[in-house]
Amino acid sequence: MKKRQSVHVTRPYLPPKEEFLKRIEQIYDARYLTNQGPLLDELEGGLRDFLGVRHLQMVSNGTTALQLAIHMLDLRGKEVITTPYTYVASVSSLLWEGARPVFADIEPDGFNIDPAEIEKAITPDTAAILGVHVYGLPCRVEAIEEIARAHKLKVIYDAAHAFGTRYQGRALLDQGDVSICSFHATKVFHSGEGGCVVCRDAELDRRIELARRFGHHGDKYFFPGINAKSTELHAAMGLAVLPHFPEVVELRRKVCERYDAGLAALAGAESGSGAGILRLHASEASAALSARTPGDWQYNYSYYPVVFPDRAMRDRALARLAEIRVFPRRYFEPSLNQLPYLANSAPCPRSENMSGRVVCLPLCHDLEPEIIDEICATISAACRE
Ligand SMILES: *Cc1c(COP(=O)(O)O)cnc(C)c1O
Repeated sequence: MKKRQSVHVTRPYLPPKEEFLKRIEQIYDARYLTNQGPLLDELEGGLRDFLGVRHLQMVSNGTTALQLAIHMLDLRGKEVITTPYTYVASVSSLLWEGARPVFADIEPDGFNIDPAEIEKAITPDTAAILGVHVYGLPCRVEAIEEIARAHKLKVIYDAAHAFGTRYQGRALLDQGDVSICSFHATKVFHSGEGGCVVCRDAELDRRIELARRFGHHGDKYFFPGINAKSTELHAAMGLAVLPHFPEVVELRRKVCERYDAGLAALAGAESGSGAGILRLHASEASAALSARTPGDWQYNYSYYPVVFPDRAMRDRALARLAEIRVFPRRYFEPSLNQLPYLANSAPCPRSENMSGRVVCLPLCHDLEPEIIDEICATISAACRE
């Protein structure tokens, strides 16, 4: 029997080759590669329309988007309350920009920062909140907005997972003072590498636009900037992917539903009850969210997290999956308050506990049904060992 290829947490979506090549031909015709060319203008316009936002700047990646947001909100030297349960870039960007991350633990029944814990962490030095819509599931944006208003804090959202998620009639990216997204190849929408900064305020948008290209317009020099520009080559990929985004989400939804069905026997019941194995997976998290936010709420199916009752069972499932050459990711471990280069961070028991039990299963638009079934069967068997 031919050995099938190993399966990783995701595979990038590749648009039809002729559509991408048509865009590359445009680049050859215009002979223009970077410095805000016609393709980048077109992509930025397309993204503003798709998301329904007025101000959006595309940049070289999600991490520079975060750095620009932190820098332009002037957070150097100040405390920024953030979540320990996220990809390291959310927190390393704060450190890189000289801000001081202060961790607030996650909600007891979810993956995102807990507004009650934010309130406890506020000090006279707090200047901002950096929330992350983990797995594309919305933070408690209303509660966070209220806290920010009461304490005069800025709000940044790392919405790297949230492209395409809609919440209360708006793109989830249209929240906070600034939201950023990543268009990395592994994200639901991508341009190979890339990212964007979305903000509400026209003046801040203008300053971010300047900052991403050295802080000058021709001969007028405003302030020191950096080079965070995207290019025509990345715009070509983004433009070829964008029209297919709705069908990609729909195909990912089908993959998630097949996982839901395959894991249904394990899911739902509380751990320790004998039968109950997985306490929560994406569909339950989004069901819980739908219950708390009736109305317009649409998920982008960006990740398929499963949470095991304990670390031992999670690691056993990972070992059995590795035997069939399936390699999910422990998104997110470690809990970032335990980063080796961060001394004296307060413990975050919920996040630390979640980090030891979670796995994101392979998810892409064309994941084969047989592989999904094999993964579900392997996890089920591992849980019963
Ligand atoms: C991917 C990711 C980033 C970084 O985005 P890049 O485009 O890879 O720089 C930041 N935060 C989160 C939560 C991410 O998942």
